[in-house]
Amino acid sequence: MSSSECLRVRGLGASWGADPVLTDVDLDVADGEFVVLMGPNGSGKTTLLRCLVGLEAPTHGTVSLRGRNLRGVPTHRRGVGMLFQEPALFPHRSVWENVAYGLAVLRRPRADIDRRVEEMLRLLHLESLADRAPQALSGGERQRVALARTLAPEPPLVLLDEPFASVDAEIRRDLRSAFRRALSATRTAAIHVTHDREEGLLLADRVVLLSGGRVVQHGSPPEVYGAPASADSARFLGYNVLVESGRAMAIAPIDVEIRPLGESNRTGTVTLSGFAGGSHLVEVELEGGERLEGRLPLGAIPPAVGTRVGLRWRRSVALPGAPV
Ligand code: ADP
Repeated sequence: MSSSECLRVRGLGASWGADPVLTDVDLDVADGEFVVLMGPNGSGKTTLLRCLVGLEAPTHGTVSLRGRNLRGVPTHRRGVGMLFQEPALFPHRSVWENVAYGLAVLRRPRADIDRRVEEMLRLLHLESLADRAPQALSGGERQRVALARTLAPEPPLVLLDEPFASVDAEIRRDLRSAFRRALSATRTAAIHVTHDREEGLLLADRVVLLSGGRVVQHGSPPEVYGAPASADSARFLGYNVLVESGRAMAIAPIDVEIRPLGESNRTGTVTLSGFAGGSHLVEVELEGGERLEGRLPLGAIPPAVGTRVGLRWRRSVALPGAPV
């Protein structure tokens, strides 16, 4: 075990009945590292977290935390904190009591509990809410309390399953910076599950991409985004996937240029054209039936639906695998 190793997963497999859900998953997380686990719906993200926390028994492989094999260790003895999309706070206890709960279960001395709860409330800007009941909190406040409660017993690793999925965009922005800051201040490693690729790429030290129950890519966000490993990975990462000269190519919407008909290498018909916040979004159906999404700067005049246009791309990434 290396000195900074927190979690080590080797050859993990899991099934629902006869159907394999996870196959041969390897995963390493270093102390204090923020790993984002991404992948389409049904790719096995939640099942993997459930295996790590002990709510699901793997059919194959090993999970160890700081060198200790977790096989047969019950959930509450694993030293792994878990936080869900909907925080399950105790409704009849105050914020302070909720945060103190895990420490009381561990029978920590009263003075230690007081000190640690104060520290967690300060870290997550919850001091003024200490006496409130959970029902009197907003969704974002409840998630901050849930994180304070999870971090209070100092677990080396926390698992975050879509923790921002049920709050609106503005609160999500506050929460993601609050979570990132609290985890790095406490040097806690995290595995954060999301199907939101922008959130994942933004937050991660390292990204792990799951598809069909297998790890198909891992690395820093620029490494994973810059070299999609398959057509499925590329689509998940937001690329257009096209076949050119018998090879599958990934083309980022930002690299698509919409040109007059004569100045292009492909042509197609606009099927959708509209304002998309910082840019115009234009979707074009190519002659072969493939669809391509492009972005135009706000100063440009977007073509109307039904217009025939030419297309070029500034950059494309050849996808590995046999030519198609
Ligand atoms: P994700 O979190 O990536 O959406 P899940 O881990 O929830 O994926 O699901 C992975 C696969 O396991 C899916 O095919 C899903 O249908 C199946 N699955 C999940 N939970 C159950 C269950 N309780 N019973 C049977 N199959 C399940």
